[in-house]
Formats: sequence, structure tokens, C-alpha cells
Amino acid sequence: MWHKLQQRVEQRQAQSLLRQRLTVASAQSCELKVEGQGYLNFSSNDYLGLANHPKMIEAMQHAAKDYGVGAGASHLIVGHSHHHHALEQELADFVGAERALLFSTGYMANFGVLTSLLDKQDLIVQDKLNHASLIDGGLASEAKMRRYAHNDTEALQRQLQSPLSTDTNSTFETKLVVTDGVFSMDGDIAPLQSIHQVCQQTSAQLMVDDAHGFGVLGQQGKGTVSHCGLPSCDIYMATLGKALGGFGAFVAGSSLLIESLIQFARSYIYTTAMPPAIAAANRMGLKLLQQEDWRREQLNKNIALFKQLAKQANLPLMQSDTAIQPILLKSNELVAKVSAELKQQGILALAIRPPTVPVNSARLRITLTAQHSEEQIVRLVEVLQKSVQVVSKQVANQTYEL
Ligand SMILES: *Cc1c(COP(=O)(O)O)cnc(C)c1O
Repeated sequence: MWHKLQQRVEQRQAQSLLRQRLTVASAQSCELKVEGQGYLNFSSNDYLGLANHPKMIEAMQHAAKDYGVGAGASHLIVGHSHHHHALEQELADFVGAERALLFSTGYMANFGVLTSLLDKQDLIVQDKLNHASLIDGGLASEAKMRRYAHNDTEALQRQLQSPLSTDTNSTFETKLVVTDGVFSMDGDIAPLQSIHQVCQQTSAQLMVDDAHGFGVLGQQGKGTVSHCGLPSCDIYMATLGKALGGFGAFVAGSSLLIESLIQFARSYIYTTAMPPAIAAANRMGLKLLQQEDWRREQLNKNIALFKQLAKQANLPLMQSDTAIQPILLKSNELVAKVSAELKQQGILALAIRPPTVPVNSARLRITLTAQHSEEQIVRLVEVLQKSVQVVSKQVANQTYEL
């Protein structure tokens, strides 16, 4: 085993695919301290700048005084505190669902939903670019899983209509369509209106993973479902560690959905509850994101400014109007080197490479937040333009005419 692992790690390195961690020595903000150096941060999912908000910190400190640090047990034993319970009710009210259920992470929420609700007679149909946690949950589920080409609702419809087995022409009992609301590595928004329509025509259920839409899109930040003008979806999931600035995740929907997850979702049942003080901080985050529209307005201004400047600089933007603005450089080597060059210049914009994204679609994943200033965005584009020019001259066959 060890010999093989050594080879696999070395192979990654040779292909410019080795993943490495930064050690951050400051709170999340548009400026970060890493190894004693200050950097401009364009890689955070803290879209509204709430992760380090004084009221969030205060809420956590207060709750820690009353409830201590550890939850001490799982939700079904004695780990479910007042703050957890209140947060669930507040989240359900906010997104307009009957009930909501907290999970310790978004990964566990997606995995729990897809592995607990369906069986062999059922079908899961997922967008090809869905988040890894959805793909893993679908693979671990007893249900059959199919994947459709990104945002292609006709392909989705074909997948839903093709039978369980061609010889018997037998049909599936339950069909569940699963899509990201905002795609995490591309930044584009799922066409939820047409997906919803296809679901209605084929009697399929709809699950939306809104990790990057919740707090950012829609009225008061209610998310992508609201942004697309739908009243609701059958299973709504979002994380609390991104725009909300806290940690954890929730699933919202009918009472029966939530009761079923409590009974059957192993990633809910067999794990310690999130610390109560985190739940308290999440409650504050939910309040702030509802109350402070100016954060979404500022974020949208920053997105528009970045897109305008990047277009002028001829940078290869993707089709995205959200805070996720990838620069599609394609080559692993080019993207790794541009990212390293940016770091040299004091800017953190991390390289996203296969297998996180398809082969030949490596990109710099730029994320904007409400905290970035105009000068910071101007500087980002200037340095980006220069770095791509310089590096593409060094990397054979990867010239970008800028
Ligand atoms: C981040 C993310 C998750 C996982 O959420 P965590 O709380 O970080 O585990 C799930 N889905 C999508 C689309 C994400 O971007």
C-alpha cells in the first residue's frame, strides 16, 4: 500500500496537481496573514464578511459561557441544545419550510439525505457538476444514480423518462433530481424554473444544494430557489459556513422529510452535535444576513466591477454573475504557476484543478466578498493580467493573447 501511495503522490506532483494547504494566522477577511505575510484574499466563501463580525463573536462567547464548548453527545442523546432547536426553527421560518434539521457539515447533510430516503426501486438524477458530497451520497445510496450534462434540462428529462430496465420496461418508484443552486467551481446558477417544470412533468422530486446561494441570492438572501422565482423545492439544503459566516448545514422541507432524516440518516444520528455556541453564532449570522441588505448590494457592485475590469483585460471569464468568478486557464501547469505568481505579488487566488473540475478545465477560482474595496479589485485585475501574460510565455502552447 505505502509504495503505491508514494507513486500516486509523486504522480500528482509531476502533473502539477499536488494539493497543499496554507496555514492562516488571522481571522477570515479580505486580508489574510499567512506565514508572517499579508495577502489580499480572493479565495474565501465568506461572501458577506460575517465570519469575523463582532456580533458573531459575541454571540459565540455568550453561548460558550452558558453552554460550554462541546455538545457532549449526538442530537438524539443529550446533545440537542436550546440554541440548536431555536436555530432550526428560525431557518425553517426564513426559507418558508415546515421544518429544518441541522447537520454538522454540508457534506454530511447531502450524504445523509441521499443515503437514507431512497431504495433500490428509486432513481437519483444529478447534474454532472454537482458538489462531491452529492456525488458521493448518490454513489453510496441504494438507489440507481444517473448524471446529466451540466444544466441541460433536455438531457435531464431523457434520464428521468428512461426506464429502470429496458427488458422489463419497469419504472422507478421515486425519482429525485438533485442540483447545486450555484455551481461551486463555475459560479453559474441552475435553471431552476425549467428543472422544476421537468420535475412536475415527470413526477420527480427536486433537491437543491444551495451552499453558495443561501444568504447571497434571492430576497433577503433566501437563496437560489427564491432568486429563480420558485415558491419552494422538496428538499432544500444549505451550508452555514459560507455566506452566513458560521459553521454547519441544514436541510429544510416537509415535517415528514425532517422526521425521516432524524430516524434514518446515519450521518445525522451517529455523530456529535455541533457545539451549542456555534449554533448560537449561526443564529446571529442568520439575523445579520436578513437585516443587512447593504452587504448583498456591495457584493453585487464588487462582482460587476470585477467582471467589467476582467473583460477589459481580456481575461478568460466564465458565464457567471455570482461571487464565484473563475478564470478558465485550462492547463494545470499554467494555473498552478499563475496562482504561485499571484501569491508572490501578495494575492491569494487558488488554483482549482482536476479531479475537482474536468480535465483540461483548470481554473483560478476568484471569489469576491462584500468586504473587498474598489482598489483591491483593481489591483487584483492588474496583477492577474500581468501574471497570465508572464506565465503563459513560460508555459509552452498555452499563450493567451491579452
Ligand atoms: C461547501 C459545499 C458543501 C459542503 O458543505 P460543508 O458544510 O463545507 O461540508 C456542499 N455542497 C456545496 C455545493 C458546497 O459548495
